[in-house]
Amino acid sequence: MNEKQTYPETSGIQKAWSFWSLFYQKQLILIAGTSKIKSMKKRILTGDRPTGKLHLGHYVGSLANRVKLQDEYECFFIVADLHMLTTKISKKEISQTDEIVRHLVLDYLAVGIDPEKSVIYRQSRISEVAYFSLLFSMLVTVPRCQRVPTLKEVMRDLHIEKPSLGLLTYPVLQAADILMVKAHLVPVGKDQESHIELTREIAHKFNEMYGQVFPVPKALIGEVPTLSGLDGKAKMSKSLGNCIYLSDDEKTVREKVMGMYTDPTRIHSTDPGHVKGNPVFIYHDAFNRNKKEVEGLKKRYQEGKVGDVEVKEKLALAINKFLAPIRNRRAKFEKEKGLVEGILGKGNRKACKEAQKTLQEAKKAMGLV
Ligand code: ATP
Ligand code: MG
Repeated sequence: MNEKQTYPETSGIQKAWSFWSLFYQKQLILIAGTSKIKSMKKRILTGDRPTGKLHLGHYVGSLANRVKLQDEYECFFIVADLHMLTTKISKKEISQTDEIVRHLVLDYLAVGIDPEKSVIYRQSRISEVAYFSLLFSMLVTVPRCQRVPTLKEVMRDLHIEKPSLGLLTYPVLQAADILMVKAHLVPVGKDQESHIELTREIAHKFNEMYGQVFPVPKALIGEVPTLSGLDGKAKMSKSLGNCIYLSDDEKTVREKVMGMYTDPTRIHSTDPGHVKGNPVFIYHDAFNRNKKEVEGLKKRYQEGKVGDVEVKEKLALAINKFLAPIRNRRAKFEKEKGLVEGILGKGNRKACKEAQKTLQEAKKAMGLV
């Protein structure tokens, strides 16, 4: 009787024990599995200089691809504040960086970048990147850097007569960012393609000289490789002030669109106009989801049967429709105190760990340790 009484009790404990040990085993397998899957994922690195808020050009050039690929890749998104110093070096400009960085991270969240999936970090917080940049600068010649097309473009646009050494080696620092986390893919606008080419050369050269350490990354150019500016300039750019920002309100967007540069050869609305290369239609193609409306407007524009005002009114509506969910998400995140600081803190720690690991590996390969 006694035996009978104790037996079922022991069996209950045993059952409970085996249930929990099975449960923990499964959890462990699951955790091990997830981290393995995570480490098996290829990596992305890309980012932006905190020289202002993000604009429509960033979206089509790079952000859309980042959002699309954040599940497939392990992503590192860098707020490149050391790169900012190549054109904004005064103490006043530097003192404004914290606020711009905050807006930039809010823009990331607003377009749908998920900080739980991706690492968002600030470049200046990772000292190792300067070390990488120095090592890589030994593998690139000065004339090679001078041939990078963006150097001339930046000098022209910002009226820089003699570039600093920092501006000249901008792409070398970018190679340090990319290779430091061993990225495979770099989603960027067309203007940055030549920089990724240099990164590839550096990775090849390093691997050839010291042994295989770095993957040779590829550039992924956005659906609109370079979005032109509101003023008709080839590139919408923070530093040129010819942008529609992702955080612009409806009224601002409308005002900016109504003042946009269009076909300069068209004097009257009855003149046949040019669609190709016309920023108003480039934007319609990129942001107006009503393709039938766009085709109709293009046809009437070429036949001289529609005025600029109607084309622009419709464009403003389309861009505002595109930006509405981005604005809503931004407003929600903006209210969360400490959100951005928390994301960057966590991201900086993760990026730092990766940087230290890769630097150790690179130094070992070179025989520096
Ligand atoms: P700045 O004028 O300060 O250099 P920016 O507007 O060029 O700012 P960056 O931070 O240099 O922005 O670029 C961030 C990313 O966005 C890069 O991948 C760049 O290629 C892409 N990008 C920037 N402007 C455009 C654009 N107009 N069209 C497509 N991609 C763009
Ligand atoms: Mg730029």
